[in-house]
Amino acid sequence: MRRPILRYGEPVLQQKAAPVTALTAEIDTLIEDMRETLHAAAGVGLAAPQVGQSLRLCLVDLSAGRRPEQLLVLINPEVLAAEGLQLKEEGCLSVPGIEATVPRPQKLSVRALDRDGDLREIRAEGLLARAIQHEIDHLDGILFLDRLRPVHRWTITRRITRLRRAGQW
Ligand SMILES: [Zn+2]
Repeated sequence: MRRPILRYGEPVLQQKAAPVTALTAEIDTLIEDMRETLHAAAGVGLAAPQVGQSLRLCLVDLSAGRRPEQLLVLINPEVLAAEGLQLKEEGCLSVPGIEATVPRPQKLSVRALDRDGDLREIRAEGLLARAIQHEIDHLDGILFLDRLRPVHRWTITRRITRLRRAGQW
């Protein structure tokens, strides 16, 4: 079942999420709902706080649903190492219509539980490293806007406020 994606301004998006303590039926349902929600939105990543669940769980799928084997489910992910720098345009399902250039590591190594509860180590670079880092940020209450220089962030948040007042966001 699809769940509504919360937008910038919702307090849960700025909270540090709690670890998943057991892979219960509820967690499995949440993962399935998040998969449907992510693919319906044609996004490449979704974190549990974006659907109102303050838990350390996120999904990444660079194929946006076209290749099921590409779906990564990361539970309680931990960054083991990060190196290099990439600067690319980035967006977020919780900040629709807004893109900005965000600095991210070029390479990343991450440890997380998968959907079956097996501990996995993932090495990623380029777009995948960017997407994983973006989703892990959500688990720490950080949006991509928070990674911008203050003046740039201010310009964007003012634009959002104006669109909101006009009922267009
Ligand atoms: Zn996001």
